[in-house]
Amino acid sequence: MTKSATSHLLPVFARVDLGFERGEGAWLIATNGERYLDFTSGVAVNALGHAHPYLVAALQEQATKLWHMSNLFKSPDGERLAARLCEQSFADFVFFANSGAEAMECAIKITRRYHAAKGRPERYRIITFEGAFHGRTLGTLAATGSPKYLEGFGPPLDGFDQVALGDLDAVKKAIGPQTAGILIEALQGEGGVRAAPHAFFKALRQLCDDNGLLLIFDEVQTGMGRTGELFAYKRLGVTPDVMPLAKALGGGFPIGACLATAEAASGMTPGSHGSTFGGNPLAVAAANAVLDVMLKPGFFEHAQKMSLLLKQKLASVVDRYPKVLTEVRGEGLLIGLKAVVPSGDLVNALRDQKLLTVGAGDNVVRFLPPLIVTEAEIEEAVQRLDRACAALSGNQLKQAAG
Ligand SMILES: *Cc1c(COP(=O)(O)O)cnc(C)c1O
Repeated sequence: MTKSATSHLLPVFARVDLGFERGEGAWLIATNGERYLDFTSGVAVNALGHAHPYLVAALQEQATKLWHMSNLFKSPDGERLAARLCEQSFADFVFFANSGAEAMECAIKITRRYHAAKGRPERYRIITFEGAFHGRTLGTLAATGSPKYLEGFGPPLDGFDQVALGDLDAVKKAIGPQTAGILIEALQGEGGVRAAPHAFFKALRQLCDDNGLLLIFDEVQTGMGRTGELFAYKRLGVTPDVMPLAKALGGGFPIGACLATAEAASGMTPGSHGSTFGGNPLAVAAANAVLDVMLKPGFFEHAQKMSLLLKQKLASVVDRYPKVLTEVRGEGLLIGLKAVVPSGDLVNALRDQKLLTVGAGDNVVRFLPPLIVTEAEIEEAVQRLDRACAALSGNQLKQAAG
């Protein structure tokens, strides 16, 4: 047989026929020279936009010094990054990984081990929520629990009990002698920018305290400023025991982290977990540089201001095109636009207008601009949305007439 594939990349992604070679802030330049306004940020990763000069310099400097050296030795820059993340959060310890799913795996292991170390190894089950997304490894896939992702991969990892988002009675019923913890996204990203009420998070905290369970907030997408605070739990006013991070942590360089209190991490001992690349010096340099920028006074105020502006302007477009759009939701710059037309059609129509967005569950289109987006860029994006909606309304009229 001859090799006939036109692409040798494993065909697991439905890729758009469009490639990019360069980025500048909120803009991407395609291989054909066309400029696109990027409101995907690499799916909530490029929080500081593309080619941020400070990040570029930090990575270039580190590249001349040390790329990799394993976890056999001390890591002064890793120590510093971990200390800064703990100083900014509830946590006492940080494990560095390379992706969101790996940070989540660490969270699951910490949670199970916590109870085992206390002499309760039978407590290994974790309560999760419908519409969740926690990753694509076999463990995080089981936590995600979506049949469409699990199909064909054999029996899912045992130990997850899924209930409806926001259903406190269902959570109470699901708690049993084998329950180890509760895992929830501070705001569901992939699931369609769906939020449970603040009171629900407070009630989960109380249930965990009453039953000796660990509360895990998956902040892989919401963390590192996406919802207008460094971590979304600060906005909720509820503190977790364990918190995986990834997407924006390295500003585009792959790095994940699992944060935990000393109590939650009390089962983790030398040899109980590991990663060859975790805490790689290049990744740590990138993340330290991201923090340098984000912790400057005014950074989150800017993101919050842009959030308000974007939400207001999107709401007025929703009002103008009720046959195309129905609702604006989300926090900070994790904004969802619930569509009436198929969300994929809206993503395509926006791309025709050279505005890049990301689909999500529940027929939602995510607007994920970099946190450094300007007022002018938001105006531009909203004008492009308006034109896309006009084009989609025109199609609907044509369909109705024909
Ligand atoms: C993206 C995401 C993950 C998985 O991260 P990967 O880096 O793709 O493994 C896990 N949880 C949430 C909430 C995410 O948004």
